[in-house]
Amino acid sequence: YFKRIGFIGLGNMGSRMANNLIKGGYYLTVHDVNQNAMKIFSEKGILTKESPIEVAENSDVLITMLPSSNHVLDVYAGRNGLLSRGNTLEPWLFIDSSTIDPQTSRKLSATIADYSLKGKRGGWEVPAMLDAPVSGGVLGAETGTLTFMVGGLEEAFMAAKPLFLSMGKNSIYCGGAGNGSAAKICNNLAMAVSMLGVSEALCLGQKLGIAASTLTKIFNSSSGRCWSSDTYNPVPGVMDGVPASRSYDGGFASKLMAKDLNLATASAKEVGLECPLTSQAEKIFMELCNDGHGAKDFSCAFCHYYPGRDE
Ligand code: NAD
Repeated sequence: YFKRIGFIGLGNMGSRMANNLIKGGYYLTVHDVNQNAMKIFSEKGILTKESPIEVAENSDVLITMLPSSNHVLDVYAGRNGLLSRGNTLEPWLFIDSSTIDPQTSRKLSATIADYSLKGKRGGWEVPAMLDAPVSGGVLGAETGTLTFMVGGLEEAFMAAKPLFLSMGKNSIYCGGAGNGSAAKICNNLAMAVSMLGVSEALCLGQKLGIAASTLTKIFNSSSGRCWSSDTYNPVPGVMDGVPASRSYDGGFASKLMAKDLNLATASAKEVGLECPLTSQAEKIFMELCNDGHGAKDFSCAFCHYYPGRDE
């Protein structure tokens, strides 16, 4: 009940995750609305299908890796979606690795639990769902070193661990349905705010006459040190091998960061928490997107303080 994996969403992340599952010995059936993405798999002899429901009918476990909540809802509840044929499902486990809002993850998980299974699968009487977004980016997806943050039933998480370890090096159980999605958007909110903090401080330092490379050395041996200063520095030329040193190409797109911050502000609103830094960060990343930097790595936040620096 574990060998046949359906995979939907063969983009930057999904195509690489699917490749690692194939390497891990699983039998895959895949689908994407983009025919070119499907062709790469069919040319390798992997079964491709034209709709989500056809993938589901061929799978024990079904994984989705889609851009946003609307795409996930479409694949589940849309025409020819995973839930479009009766109230009995073939897969016993659904894993959504897309970064979406916790509320949508929770609703989907509750919907899935109302269905029944075609046959009893390894003790499961109703299908289970895990929200399992990832951290580690395209490189982590390629090298199979992603971290999975997982919400849902703990038994389902334990059962799915071998799958996570085929695609990543860590999987962390976060609690009930939606908690994986909550963990992911909180991580990205902290990352966005710290990137903006480092960018703002390095820009002010430069204006006050301290070179960004000198100030970075000071941060990295002082209390200002963080991932944005010592691993992913936003100032061109301060570190080798980071997006800032290649015109902010590759890495994690600003438009995805803007999307994730939008999920965080929406979630904060839903629970009645005021999050001024999140709102401000969302505004800045939206502006970067409107100024044509949407496809650039999110460390181009530095350009917000230093316009023209990357040209
Ligand atoms: P992507 O845009 O490269 O890939 C998404 C794929 O989904 C595309 O191939 C698209 O054609 C397909 N798709 C869209 N709608 C569909 C539908 N209705 N049916 C079938 N296929 C459909 O995005 P990505 O970079 O792979 O990111 C996927 C998710 O992972 C996003 O939620 C993103 O926030 C998250 N994420 C991305 C990164 C990263 O560095 N790229 C890192 C961590 C998490």
